[in-house]
Amino acid sequence: METAVRIDSRFPDMGTTIFTVMSRLAAECGAVNLSQGFPDFQAEPALFDAMHRHMLAGRNQYPPMAGLPELRQAIADKVAALYGTRFDVESEVTVTAGATQAIFTAVAAFVRPGDEVIVFEPVYDSYVPAIETVGGKAVHAQLQFPDYAPDWAQVASLITPKTRMIIVNSPHNPTGSLLTAADVDRLAELVRGTDIVILSDEVYEHILFDGERHVSLCGHPELAARTIVVSSFGKTYHITGWKIGYVVGPAALMAEFRKVHQFNVFTVHAPSQLAIAEYMQDASRHLGLAAFYQEKRDFFRQLMAATPFELLPCRGTYFQLARYDRISDLPDRAFAEWLTREVGVAVIPVSAFYADGRDDNVVRFCFAKREETLRAAVERLGKAFPAKSQL
Ligand code: PMP
Ligand code: GLN
Repeated sequence: METAVRIDSRFPDMGTTIFTVMSRLAAECGAVNLSQGFPDFQAEPALFDAMHRHMLAGRNQYPPMAGLPELRQAIADKVAALYGTRFDVESEVTVTAGATQAIFTAVAAFVRPGDEVIVFEPVYDSYVPAIETVGGKAVHAQLQFPDYAPDWAQVASLITPKTRMIIVNSPHNPTGSLLTAADVDRLAELVRGTDIVILSDEVYEHILFDGERHVSLCGHPELAARTIVVSSFGKTYHITGWKIGYVVGPAALMAEFRKVHQFNVFTVHAPSQLAIAEYMQDASRHLGLAAFYQEKRDFFRQLMAATPFELLPCRGTYFQLARYDRISDLPDRAFAEWLTREVGVAVIPVSAFYADGRDDNVVRFCFAKREETLRAAVERLGKAFPAKSQL
């Protein structure tokens, strides 16, 4: 249909998110999809049974704006058990429609036109559009290639009187790097005495490997007092399509968050909240996630060792970065498209996470897949590229 109005696009240069682009291409080409991050296996039936039971029991009307008390209680208990900080169930915990909505809402609540927000590149793709939608300006700090650690001296140099927020993400998508306790102390020093709010994206909080412990900003009393922490049940319980997550933070920050949240989504799907509240009671379900994904990481890395891809360290998340310089000198977007079309394995080009399209010839594989899926993908790679020993 023709449009009857002249559109003054808010984002004239913005395309479709790389995750949608690559998943669509994978489907078109019949490629094994290791691009967009989602599991190709089922959650446990107990979770679905619980959801069904709550629907049949009539729990299908609007829950309270901040989320059902049962779920907020379960979240507060989990956070207290893991990170030692007890958030008030009434005023400091809010259930959201996934982490994306939480991030958008937090940015809208705190960032005004002209404010600066420091983000770390490579940066998860929803942060900068959220900042720009509300008239803020994203200021890019760099995680240092190839270990992707923050450069705190650079961050210090980027802080100005206009800095309103810093967004951190650990475990980090797409790099699998982690913030250490020393990083978090350094961040605390940098923001001490300022009014900078921290938004901490911790959606992979339960997926850390080799005995590493997640350093939540909730567990740092000084930072917790100025931080909104975001998490997502999609990652933790293998239900990315349910779009349900939460935020925790000090009451005064949460009150501002909720002013936006109530007119953004108002509230979130009731039966899912009840099902998750029940499911969370067994802590082994989130505590066992690290071992579950470590097995997949190790299995995938072992298979990949026979290909010419050069694997970067992966300390957390369900993403594995790999350099492909030994295979191709194509730019990473062209390489990812070629790999999808010609080899039949879809990946994400890491330049998509840089404002200036910086390209280190690195692509991201998602290993949240069944063993047969990972094996099928690596078999295709093995056929397409000569073994390392032959190079
Ligand atoms: N932040 C990061 C770092 C993510 O990787 C994702 C999803 N992959 C999100 C936020 C969004 O989570 P949700 O699907 O719950 O909106
Ligand atoms: N966050 C997921 C990823 O990194 C994708 C989520 C989405 O498609 N928006 O792949």
